[in-house]
Amino acid sequence: MIFLGSAGVPTVCRERTTAAGIRCVAELKLNAFECEFVRRVGMSNEMAREVGELARELKIKLSVHCPYFVNLCSQEKEKLKASQKRILDSVERAHFMGADVAVFHPGFYGKLAPAEALEAVKRACAEIIDGASAKGIRGVQLGLETMGKQSTFGTLDETAAVCREVERCVPVVDWAHLNCRYGGVFKTQEDYGKIFDELKPLKLKHLHTHATCAEYTLVGAGKGNEKHHLTLDAKKPDYEPLVREILRRKIDITLISESPTLEQDALFLKRVFEKHGYRF
Ligand SMILES: [Zn+2]
Repeated sequence: MIFLGSAGVPTVCRERTTAAGIRCVAELKLNAFECEFVRRVGMSNEMAREVGELARELKIKLSVHCPYFVNLCSQEKEKLKASQKRILDSVERAHFMGADVAVFHPGFYGKLAPAEALEAVKRACAEIIDGASAKGIRGVQLGLETMGKQSTFGTLDETAAVCREVERCVPVVDWAHLNCRYGGVFKTQEDYGKIFDELKPLKLKHLHTHATCAEYTLVGAGKGNEKHHLTLDAKKPDYEPLVREILRRKIDITLISESPTLEQDALFLKRVFEKHGYRF
């Protein structure tokens, strides 16, 4: 199945609450919504439960994005603990909502060598999973997002390495981030296919992803840094080959639009899927 949705409340939605955002997504005939805890987890478990009931009623698939102030590579114990708490709080809300994944940006290498950062992230994720289990939460996965800057932990290899070793961790492929980080790699269907091939050993039942275009600066061969988001008509990257590859391989996937026009670009993707024969 293909799920398309918006990262937070759609731009056309007048009321700026999560519940209104979910209703709006349903009215637009999209089928996914990512609840954005950008600065803090400002939602009670009770509210999360209500939001979850609404989403089930309207057949909207929910996911959660944890706050941005997270650094699982931090060498300062307090910063690490605060990061883990932000993720665990998000996981708890996701649980009450019935969302299956809580997405987060793992962190920054800082002074750590990439191999050390990998160990730090693995350790921190395992502790969060233990914390969730202690609360009786087993149905929410930690979604490690692939990141768009050389200074951030989160190449495809790194996220996959964490997910191979730590239970209930899954990669969240941010197509634009990878395109920036690898200096504009996505051009053809085969380019996207390589990502699916790399993820095959993880045997994922469903792949959660983010879709936007983004500007980047090149900093070396095959290396770039994300600058800022663009709408999908910028074709950085072009999503049509991705859509064709998803349909060719019959991938079960969610694409959450993070473009500046959120739902408009989610609807654009819907039209591309339909053009290639998919019926929602
Ligand atoms: Zn993100």
